[in-house]
Amino acid sequence: MELHAVPDLPEIRPGDDLAELVAERIDLEDGDVLTVASTVVSKAEGRGADLDDFPAGPRAREIATRLEAITGERKDPRFAQAVLEESTELLMEAPFLLTESRFGHVSVNAGIDRSNVPDHDLLLLPKRPTASAERIRSGLPADVAVIVTDTCGRPFRHGQRGVALGWAGMPASRDWRGESDRDGRELGVTVQSVVDELAAAANLVTGEGADGTPAVVVRDWSFGDLEGSDELFRDVETDFVRQALREWGYDHEVSR
Ligand code: GDP
Ligand code: MN
Ligand code: MN
Repeated sequence: MELHAVPDLPEIRPGDDLAELVAERIDLEDGDVLTVASTVVSKAEGRGADLDDFPAGPRAREIATRLEAITGERKDPRFAQAVLEESTELLMEAPFLLTESRFGHVSVNAGIDRSNVPDHDLLLLPKRPTASAERIRSGLPADVAVIVTDTCGRPFRHGQRGVALGWAGMPASRDWRGESDRDGRELGVTVQSVVDELAAAANLVTGEGADGTPAVVVRDWSFGDLEGSDELFRDVETDFVRQALREWGYDHEVSR
């Protein structure tokens, strides 16, 4: 497989047509996968916001005060309010906010970015990244799958890496269950999250700073014959980690 950064993309502004901007700069082929950093999807969708848009309620003030006490850093309660507004569930509220977004993705600070955001204090994640991916895909001149990505930390391991937030034109995962290993043993649990793996590979090319390469074309890769599934975000019923958090009194509905 090959990964190519889409060259020369401009600073993205509200209303920009990402499909058109990409297609003007690189020749797309049927079967390609296009990854797009959520940062530019959010910019195109006008998801820039300001702290003043989020007057802090009592819950946000309480959270900010506690975070200040724990971290010794200034915490703006309006930022906590923005995180709460973007979230349906609060998994942890100290020493950072871990929440489930309205579209099912669990992340620190609801994925709200404060870097690579000119003209605004904050950049919120796209409202529905799968709808964003579908919209971009429908504007492309070839049959190309689209993955909207973000850079996220993960529990248990240092470092951040690319993950998929939304996708269109391909399944999220490949189901290896029922396939055999080299000894003829049947695989019982392996469901490979290919959208996350492609997002992570593409993130190596996009970089995290000032590179200006938010879109990557993946070529000569194919999903293959295995069964696909669109499940990516676990619900609480199938997530034993979240059930454990609940047992310890964490993970509850957001109140604002
Ligand atoms: P995130 O991972 O989606 O949160 O986005 P990052 O802030 O890590 O940025 C990913 C890539 O997109 C980096 O190469 C940035 O330099 C680039 N980038 C961010 N905004 C823009 C933009 O408006 N235009 C261009 N051309 N690149 C951008
Ligand atoms: Mn981000
Ligand atoms: Mn990034």
